[in-house]
Amino acid sequence: MRKNVLIAVAAVFSLIAYGDGAGLIEQPKLPYEENALEPVITAKTMGFHYGKHHKAYVDKLNSLLKDSPLKGKNLEEIILASAGKDDMTAIFNNAAQAWNHTFFWKSMKPSGGGEPKGKMLELINKSFGSYAEFKKQFADSGMAQFGSGWAWLVQDGDKLRIVKTSNADTPIAHKLNPLMTCDVWEHAYYLDYQNRRGDFINAFLDKLVNWEFAEANLK
Ligand code: MN
Repeated sequence: MRKNVLIAVAAVFSLIAYGDGAGLIEQPKLPYEENALEPVITAKTMGFHYGKHHKAYVDKLNSLLKDSPLKGKNLEEIILASAGKDDMTAIFNNAAQAWNHTFFWKSMKPSGGGEPKGKMLELINKSFGSYAEFKKQFADSGMAQFGSGWAWLVQDGDKLRIVKTSNADTPIAHKLNPLMTCDVWEHAYYLDYQNRRGDFINAFLDKLVNWEFAEANLK
């Protein structure tokens, strides 16, 4: 009897310690409350975007990984191993979207945005001429992305570049080092801005960008 109790306690402990989904990908917690970015991004948008869209990518990825040799690898490894492979398109799309969203949440903070300081401002001036020119080019890039996708600030050697990616595509699949990103899928802004993607991108730049996060990503 006593032995059975000990076995049951050990089983519960190992479930708590390791979870019952060993090798599966977890959706990280948001780095702030769902209403923390209001009024630029409302709690309603965040509830759907983090709670439904991002979660669905993670859940779908985990269901696809069950029968995949990539099960047990981390998200970056899964993205690199599935990129450009015709028989792994669904795994790539869901893994990249899982990664991109986590990176997007970290690219923002309450009372962020505006001109950065220090090293980031120096690099922006060196790469784009001025912060105003950077801002224009970043917003133009997000606007020019036809359909769904992402606008990114990436590090390319000792300079910065703006790139856009379609759908789930991500700079890490192209050996680029992303510093920060803005999600320009309609689900990122439609509840708050309807079709005004430009207003959303400019509000992101003026009020949300986490420049400390961008700087910490420099290599
Ligand atoms: Mn999104």
